[in-house]
Amino acid sequence: MLRVGVLGAAGRMGRTACAAVSADPDLELVAAIDPAAGAGHGGDLEGLVVAADVSALKEAGAEVAVDFTVASAALANATWCAAHGVHLVMGTTGLDEAAVARLRQEFEEGEANCVMAPNFAIGAVLMMRFAELAAPWFDSAEIIELHHDGKLDAPSGTAALTARRVSAAVENARLSGGSGGSRGHVGGHVGSPRGLADSGDELSLSEAPGTRGSETAPGVRVHSVRLRGLVAHQEVLLGAAGQVLTIRHDSLDRASFMPGVILAVKKVPELRGFTIGLERLLGL
Ligand code: NAP
Repeated sequence: MLRVGVLGAAGRMGRTACAAVSADPDLELVAAIDPAAGAGHGGDLEGLVVAADVSALKEAGAEVAVDFTVASAALANATWCAAHGVHLVMGTTGLDEAAVARLRQEFEEGEANCVMAPNFAIGAVLMMRFAELAAPWFDSAEIIELHHDGKLDAPSGTAALTARRVSAAVENARLSGGSGGSRGHVGGHVGSPRGLADSGDELSLSEAPGTRGSETAPGVRVHSVRLRGLVAHQEVLLGAAGQVLTIRHDSLDRASFMPGVILAVKKVPELRGFTIGLERLLGL
């Protein structure tokens, strides 16, 4: 049995993760860490260490930690895990590029491994892959991400990653087309690999600030909706003359993230170093 601790155990995702770990016959929930446990050690309930500080993972003998906290806490939690040989499944979003680079370095240099994914819903992982495959055949791409009103970061980590992957796929197709590749002629499609809408477009005089979203990656704008009642949803809109392809994914319940979280928990001990996304785990 793999011994697992959950960081952010009293939060929306953390509670769901605790239940998913407890329900899996191959996993044992040994620690539930959250400031809600109060200062110091909150107790030891039938082998489950309940505490406020990440260091309680050690006394609980956790081999893998799952982090669903806040960006401001996640980096310190991850650094502790890397330094203490505890493998980490990082679900918290909103970490900036410098923080991710630091995590990569710490897990690549240390004994523990880390799998970090902005979205553990397998449908969302496929949505990103499909968008990446389709984008080079269209002339413009925009992303609408919609989340519950308690979400702290915007754009969502999934939207930011999708934008970067779509933008990179278009650029790669443009480069290979420019070097004599056949891509631009396949199937007689109308949208040959090209640059997406120019990133340097000047705002028109009638465009009110903020209405066009933010250009999260070159040529790809992201629009963020925060609305009570939603969970996590995203549409990738790809447009060409006379046609629009919409790729949409809806997480209707936080349970949608759990198969991906559990997969990552079971695989992380053997995935050397730092892995971003579930693609490698799914063989995509
Ligand atoms: P939430 O309900 O606010 O839960 C976060 C919990 O973490 C809170 O109980 C918070 O306690 C606790 N916390 C803060 N600092 C901590 C620390 N140092 N150690 C341990 N626990 C700490 O938020 P949520 O909706 O569960 O989301 C959590 C994160 O997961 C967000 O970044 C969200 O974007 C992300 N998320 C990721 C995925 C994915 O698939 N990767 C899916 C959904 C959500 P206090 O309230 O006392 O501060």
